[in-house]
Amino acid sequence: TGSVTAAQRAVTGEPPSSRMEAPGKVNLFLAVGPTRADGYHSLATLYAAVDVREAVTVSFAPDLPEGHIDCTLEVVPGSLVDQQVERGSFDPVSVPMDESNLAVRAARTVIERAGGLPGGVRVHIEKAVPVAGGMGGGSADAAAAIKAAVELVFAVTGRETLVSDSLEIARGLGADVPFAMTGGAAIGTGTGAELSPVPVSSPWPAVLIADDGALSTPSVFSRLDALREQGQAVTPRDEDLQVPDELLGALAGDPGSDSSALSLLRNDLQTPALDLAPHLVPRLEELRMAGSIPIVSGSGPTLIALTRDHESARILAAHLREVGAHAVPVVLG
Ligand code: ATP
Repeated sequence: TGSVTAAQRAVTGEPPSSRMEAPGKVNLFLAVGPTRADGYHSLATLYAAVDVREAVTVSFAPDLPEGHIDCTLEVVPGSLVDQQVERGSFDPVSVPMDESNLAVRAARTVIERAGGLPGGVRVHIEKAVPVAGGMGGGSADAAAAIKAAVELVFAVTGRETLVSDSLEIARGLGADVPFAMTGGAAIGTGTGAELSPVPVSSPWPAVLIADDGALSTPSVFSRLDALREQGQAVTPRDEDLQVPDELLGALAGDPGSDSSALSLLRNDLQTPALDLAPHLVPRLEELRMAGSIPIVSGSGPTLIALTRDHESARILAAHLREVGAHAVPVVLG
């Protein structure tokens, strides 16, 4: 991360600009409760950041009309998205460049709340996290854009944004955005936006496997509801929505806990995601046979396979790439 602020601007003559990063995420645990009166599901989740990061640069553009936001996107070389581009499975149209882009909405909200800027703004996204992959890439863009816009507003006007205001803006943009602001690992309750950070002793090695397809989060939740109505999936009661202590202990490196805690990994969206993308079923089985512990990430279709150590992650990712999959070794937390 980093930014160019007033002092450097005086030297370069460039308008101020700020570049910030935010991580993609996986859910190591995701228990989905009943549908609430407001249509959302209550849930209990254990988020872990992935060392695949989005970056967003927000620049002041005095040449553009006040209130105008221009958005551009670049794919990070070597990233999972780049592997999708090479295979022709990345559709640039899948990311809207208009006002519905989460980074644009984030920058606009921060700037308007601060009373505006005397000109337009350019938002540039460096995309590394697969789109609609269940890894919160759009949420990471929103989080990075909030931080960058806060810095930019300060550089241009000297007005400060309170941390509490930034977090409120984050919550307003999506349930996964607050976590993308903080990173690390955290329990999320409510819709996922109420966070309690949890300690991580040493980040967990894993392999991320991106899919050529995409799954929309609302359609996966709808399929879960349908399966539950048909009696093919159980609905946990609100009081059962708890991230197991043994799993938290394993993440914190509690000496009493061992790898059996990994059997507590859970994702209630996995069954409906596999229903919508059945080609993932044999892939999960292959990952199990290879000695890893795979789960669907969030609403899918990205898979995350936990491995014994970093070397195993590197070897598994290299093997998967040889057989044509998009895979990268990562660390979680
Ligand atoms: P979730 O956070 O629900 O798990 P996801 O990781 O599966 O979502 P995202 O990549 O965050 O999926 O995006 C989901 C949809 O949001 C996209 O299909 C796209 O239409 C829209 N979108 C808006 N802004 C962005 C953005 N900056 N990057 C990617 N998608 C965006």
